[in-house]
Amino acid sequence: MALELSGLSFASLGSGSKGNGTLVCKANTRLLLDCGFSLKETVTRMQRLGVAPDSLTAIFVTHEHGDHIGGVGVLAREYGLPVYLTAGTWRAASHLGELPHVELIPANGSVQVGDITVTPVAVPHDASEPVQYVFQSDGKSVGVLTDLGSVTEAVLRHYAQCDALLLEANHCPDLLASSAYPLSVKQRIGSDWGHLSNVQAKSFLIALSRRLKYLVLVHLSEQNNSPDRVLQVLGSQVQIAEEVFFACQQRGFDWLSVG
Ligand SMILES: [Zn+2]
Ligand SMILES: [Zn+2]
Repeated sequence: MALELSGLSFASLGSGSKGNGTLVCKANTRLLLDCGFSLKETVTRMQRLGVAPDSLTAIFVTHEHGDHIGGVGVLAREYGLPVYLTAGTWRAASHLGELPHVELIPANGSVQVGDITVTPVAVPHDASEPVQYVFQSDGKSVGVLTDLGSVTEAVLRHYAQCDALLLEANHCPDLLASSAYPLSVKQRIGSDWGHLSNVQAKSFLIALSRRLKYLVLVHLSEQNNSPDRVLQVLGSQVQIAEEVFFACQQRGFDWLSVG
């Protein structure tokens, strides 16, 4: 299937603690943000979205946790792809193995790759120099914001002008508290360096001053959350977006475009 997209477009291979991968494309620039799947799974999931792995331009990495980086090394080697990541992530990611081409990026500042400007934004998460990204092209922007325990001023500033937002709504604190997870894991997830709860996601949306075209809720815990619970907490705040979607672990979500 030939992929024909107009504008700045994005789709997900899957989202959650078992693996993440987000495609962001504009014209012939095709970026993969994180890859937490085996090579076979990645290729299958990309085919579903009409993208051949050898047509990728580059891989960007947010941080070294396995659900984001587990499939990056093998994919980069197989297709000779450059990998963009922070120096801290690179130091912590010894499990990546040899890479054909590494581009170290500052945690603040922008990188131009083909038609897309990529801005890393430092986030509080229990990893070594983790970042999330805002992708811009022709005045339109898509923000990806997962794996952060709290929202900082800098995060708010960088994501304020997004046309589309992929936002973490990881857990319901009540379900997390009563889950079978070890106490240390519960504390880690719920801390300011863990993951955003539904209430924190709502607070972030309240702080946005601009209406979104698309809001996609991502990185939901399969044990400690559900789309129904997220919607219940967000209430009328979902109206900040013209359309709202959820990314799931198995199928991510299909193509959406801004611009
Ligand atoms: Zn994650
Ligand atoms: Zn993480």
